[in-house]
Amino acid sequence: MSTAKVAGVDVSTDHFIDGKRVESKRKFQTCSPIDGRHLADVSAGDADTIEAAVAAARRAFPKWAALGAEGRLPILKRFAQAILDHKQEISAVETEDNGSLLAGNAARVIPRAAHNIQFFAERALKLNDEKLDSPEVTNHIRFDPAGIAALITPWNAPFMLTTWKVGPCLAAGDTAVVKPPEWAPLTCSMMADLAAEAGVPPGVLNVVQGIGEEAGAALAAHPDIDRLSFTGSTDTARLIGTSTARSLTPVSFELGGKSPFIVCADSDLDTAARTVAGQYFNAGQVCLAGTRVLAEEKIADVLREKVRATATAMVVGDPREKTTQIGPLITPEHYQRVEGFVDRAMKAGVKPFWGGHRHKAGQLYFEPTLIGGVNQQMEIVQKEVFGPVLTWQTWNDEDDLVRLANGTDYGLAAVVFSRNEERAMRIARQLVAGSVWVNCFFVRELAAPFGGSRNSGIGREGGNWSFDFYCDVKNIATLKGSFA
Ligand code: NAD
Repeated sequence: MSTAKVAGVDVSTDHFIDGKRVESKRKFQTCSPIDGRHLADVSAGDADTIEAAVAAARRAFPKWAALGAEGRLPILKRFAQAILDHKQEISAVETEDNGSLLAGNAARVIPRAAHNIQFFAERALKLNDEKLDSPEVTNHIRFDPAGIAALITPWNAPFMLTTWKVGPCLAAGDTAVVKPPEWAPLTCSMMADLAAEAGVPPGVLNVVQGIGEEAGAALAAHPDIDRLSFTGSTDTARLIGTSTARSLTPVSFELGGKSPFIVCADSDLDTAARTVAGQYFNAGQVCLAGTRVLAEEKIADVLREKVRATATAMVVGDPREKTTQIGPLITPEHYQRVEGFVDRAMKAGVKPFWGGHRHKAGQLYFEPTLIGGVNQQMEIVQKEVFGPVLTWQTWNDEDDLVRLANGTDYGLAAVVFSRNEERAMRIARQLVAGSVWVNCFFVRELAAPFGGSRNSGIGREGGNWSFDFYCDVKNIATLKGSFA
């Protein structure tokens, strides 16, 4: 078995298939965005590795499904507890591998991952209770396990976002093949060990490391998967969709965004400004970030100066330090992509109100940036940058506002600030977005639906929407009076 020591933790760099570690001869490297340090050589899975993992998941499925939600609950609760017990190690490895803030990982992100496992395990107990009566028949609605789920996840919060799929998938009685992101693969490997220690049987949770175009593509094209849940970019979803269209595998796609952040003149401007500056969190590598600020004209200048005061005082640097608020971008390629968007916008004649350049903290650190003077057609307004870069637009009437807010191909999220409830709700109802936050941001109740409209996704997960996806929903209609 191959391991790497990362942040003092021994992490397996092999796949995890049928309860055993499996090594590939070919490896890919993962380096730390903090300072470019080489962290590990990780097994690069291929079509044969995927074949072995899907076969293991298929073999494990009947017994796992037959346990029922009650039988799975104690195992999944132990899994959730194991995550909590190891949150410091997971957080430390995640920070080294993807550059996210250590303090935030330990306080919020990794505990949330444990909650993802426990919440769905408990909620699954309440499935299969529903009956619909009609004069002739009783309809018994059942959520039966669907089979094997392929789970493909991104690097910006790999451990937490993978549990957001693994939780409902295993709770539903499905078995899983996970393909973690190649830019931050290490904590998903730790997840496999924690699941096994908690008693998740061999074959129920398999992890195949590898490059998206190879291992990911082989998984998406595999004929024996029953569900595919993907979180990542819209372009990759289009590629995956061509494979799943052939097999008619049901998909759940959680994709990119370019969400509007709307501030009305009657808002609590201090809170609104702090929340705008909060969009730089995780160096802007957050799908839900409200990256297009739309400020009502009459308060725009005041608001912008308040945002400036917070944003330009933010501490950019090593994400392991407690005081750091903005860490690095994930890789040199991604840094160039972010910088490219800003450079092209500047060449098109727009000026940043602040930022726009590499930060002195290091090679992969970018200054928090606000770009003004844009129009709706510009690339910087239309495309997801996935870095600490916001755009600034103003509006006078609500029709204009709604046109600007809905004027991209995305529809993931939106933020509305107003102290007038009727107005806030009127605006929120007109927005094309899977999630709208009013006077807050990023408050995510696990029982609520989550997903994106337009190019931001297909389907909804969360609460019973997750079980709609991971289960085969069946109606058994029994004729009244037909039983002896
Ligand atoms: P990505 O699409 O490049 O990669 C995501 C995953 O897909 C990785 O595991 C990758 O290996 C795999 N992959 C790549 N090519 C593949 C292929 N041809 N077939 C199968 N799998 C393949 O995305 P990323 O750069 O890792 O993540 C950033 C993107 O994810 C952003 O667009 C962001 O908005 C989005 N995201 C969305 C959500 C959400 O909930 N909507 C959450 C986080 C991130």
